[in-house]
Parts: sequence; structure tokens; C-alpha cells
Amino acid sequence: MNAEMTHDLVIVGGGLVGASLAARLAGSRLKVLLIEAALPPASPPRWDERCIALNDASQRILDAIGVWRLLAPDATPIRATHVSEKGRFGSTRFDADEAGLAALGYNVPLRAIGAALSAAMAQAPNVDIRQPTRVVSLQLEADSVVLGLDDGGVVRTRLVAAADGAQSSVRTLLGIGAETRDYAQHAIVSAVRLSRPHQGVAYERFTPDGPMALIPKPDDAASLVWTVPSDMAGEMMGWTDDHYRAAAQEVFGGRLGRFTALGARRAWPLARVVSETVVAPRSVLIGNAAQSLHPVAAQGFNLGLRDVANLADRILAADDPGQTQMLDDYAASRAIDRDRVTGFTDLLVRAFSNRLPGLAQARHWGLVAASLAPPIRDALLRQHLGHLGLPANAAAVSS
Ligand SMILES: Cc1cc2nc3c(=O)[nH]c(=O)nc-3n(C[C@H](O)[C@H](O)[C@H](O)COP(=O)(O)OP(=O)(O)OC[C@H]3O[C@@H](n4cnc5c(N)ncnc54)[C@H](O)[C@@H]3O)c2cc1C
Repeated sequence: MNAEMTHDLVIVGGGLVGASLAARLAGSRLKVLLIEAALPPASPPRWDERCIALNDASQRILDAIGVWRLLAPDATPIRATHVSEKGRFGSTRFDADEAGLAALGYNVPLRAIGAALSAAMAQAPNVDIRQPTRVVSLQLEADSVVLGLDDGGVVRTRLVAAADGAQSSVRTLLGIGAETRDYAQHAIVSAVRLSRPHQGVAYERFTPDGPMALIPKPDDAASLVWTVPSDMAGEMMGWTDDHYRAAAQEVFGGRLGRFTALGARRAWPLARVVSETVVAPRSVLIGNAAQSLHPVAAQGFNLGLRDVANLADRILAADDPGQTQMLDDYAASRAIDRDRVTGFTDLLVRAFSNRLPGLAQARHWGLVAASLAPPIRDALLRQHLGHLGLPANAAAVSS
């Protein structure tokens, strides 16, 4: 195969994680190419636009990348999180005050994150972007990898970072397996306007059918993520706005007054997909390509950003970005964070679902223990903030 260009790093997939890695390496000595299958989204700001909840660790990483200042005007601080279960009195609440922080995290429009990362890449002479183009073949050679593209192009690189999502084609081309657990649930994502101020509090409410989350947005609106069994999702997507709004209100209750308006709805099927390994010769999997999670604890991108921060530090310190020992060290260093977050998220889904085999009896006592026992609260709070997997240099960035 004749490779038309040679790069230090090719990032396959320009979603949130791939774009974050490219932005992190902007201005470095490395020659980086990002390949993305889709055209850039063109989405104007809307009150009900899709947002993503970033924890404190992610805010620090994006600050260290240099894009937080671009995002900050669009970010709604999450000052507390309230966790409860429908039909039970057990509940717990985490406050930014108890962590000594101004906010536990921020709810940020995807549009704003995408725009900030694109701006960082556009200003960097060492980062090229090729889209819309799909990687369709991969061949390992002595000290490089050659990628074939569906537009007929061929590129050579010393390292491939697969950030091409849960159904990663690079993972398949590398022959790496993945364990998939279909939760038979869908997340229906929307937004509501509230008759009472949310005061920066995010709510996670567990129901036998699945969790419902309300996460603060500007002007007393909130992102609404309602997880339901897949066999109910189709019908619910067909409900009128008034019907859906009333049903959501019945599940959430009256803590934030009335839901006075409902935004557009979109549904996602939910599965856990965990790659057997995250490295192969001259290749590394990051973000959803490495692990794709249930959104219950809003951990997916947060975890993927910690992949980015850790990997970027190692690539920048290495003579050869595809060095085997460096990649093995990366995989080993990410294992604990990865196992803890994928395990914790899965446990939450099963513990609070009556339809999945799990720990239904224990959940009430879990909430009670979290509200009473300091070591449990402390561990959950640090998990929530993302501090357990934060690289040392990102932790040093003050928020
Ligand atoms: C309902 C819902 C709510 C969520 N809420 C949160 C939250 O609040 N907080 C949080 O941290 N996480 C959240 N997540 C998880 C988060 O959305 C994901 O973890 C994150 O978007 C993954 O990003 P990624 O870049 O790894 O993958 P993706 O977003 O899947 O991007 C992969 C990219 O690769 C491209 N691609 C695929 N194949 C190829 C190829 N062969 N060649 C070139 N390009 C290719 C695709 O076009 C795509 O752009 C949520 C998820 C869901 C479903």
C-alpha cells in the first residue's frame, strides 16, 4: 500500500473524545490528523438543545486544554445533586460546599463543546482534519500503521487512536473483542421549563422502570433524561407533548413546581460495551470505543476525557508515540478508573431496576448508608467529581 502522508498520530472519530484529544495536542510538536465520518453538525443555540453534565475533573481537564474559557459562558453550574427513589423516603444529597468547590460540575450544550474544540483545532498548524471520510482498512507495518479510507485515501501513522464510538470499526479491524450487555432500556432526552427555580440542583430519581434525571439549564429550565424499558419507549415517543410532560411530572413529583413546557425528544438504546483491551500494536482505544456506559450517572464523556488527559501526557513525553511499553503503561494506568466507573454504573442500573437481575432489596439501604455514613459519602462524592481518575497535572489546575 502506498501511504500518501505520514503522521505521528491519527485520531479516528471526531466526536467529543477524539476532538478533545486533537485539541489537547494542538500546538505540540506532533503531526496529528483527525478523520471523521460525518460532516460537522450545524446546530444553532436552542433552549432545549442537548447538554452533557461535566464533573469537576472534566472542567479542570478542559481548562488545561485551554477551551474552558470558551465554554464557560454556556455552562450552568451544578451546585448540588439530590438522589431519591420514587415511593421511598430514603434520599441523599451532595453539595459543592462539602467538597469545598463552587460547583460539583456543569451542564454544557454539546454545541458549545463542539465549537470550542473546533476553534482550538482550527488554530493549530499541527492538526489536520479530514471529513467526511471513514476508515475502512488497517494494516500494521514494522514501525507504522497504514489506514485505508473510503474516499480512496491512504494515510500512514506511528499511532492510531480509535475514538470511533461504541461500535468502533477500528476495534473490529484490530481484532479486539468487546463485551456487550444490552440493558433493554432507552434514554429519552428532552428538556423542561420549570415553574420554580432549580437553584443549581441536579436530581436523579430512581423508579422501578429506570432512572429520571433533571439537570439545571439556564432560565430555570432543565435537561430531562428519562430512562425507560425499550418496549415502552416507542409508544412514549409517540405521545403528545402534553401527555409526555404530565407523565414525567407524575414520576418526578412537585419539587420544582410544574413543568410548564417540554422540548424536543430524542431516544437512545442503551447498552454497556466494554472492549477486552484498550491497546494493540501502535493502536489505542479511547472514549466510547474503549467503554460505552449507561448514562445513569453521567460518566461516559467524563471518563473519556480522563482517557484523553492521561494518553496525551504519555504521548507528549514519548520519543515514539506508538511505543509498546508506553501504550502498555497507559492501559495499566487506566484499568482501575475504567473498572471502577463501568462497574459502579452497571451496579446502579441493576440495583434500581426491577426488570434486571440485581440488588433491588439493597438499594434503599444504599441510599440511607450514603446519607449517613461519612466514608461512603466521601467515596461517592469523589467518584461523582471524577477526582479518582484525574492525572496529577490536571488536578493541579485550579477551578
Ligand atoms: C442519553 C445520553 C446521555 C449522556 N449524558 C452524559 C453526560 O451527561 N455526561 C457524560 O459524561 N456522558 C454522557 N453520555 C455519554 C457521552 O455522550 C459519550 O460518552 C460520549 O459522547 C462519547 O464520545 P466519543 O467521542 O467516544 O464517541 P462518539 O460520540 O460515538 O463519536 C464517535 C465518532 O466517530 C465517528 N466514526 C465512527 N466510525 C468511524 C470511522 N470508521 N471513520 C471515521 N470516523 C468514524 C462517528 O461519526 C462519531 O463522530 C450520555 C450518553 C447518552 C446516550
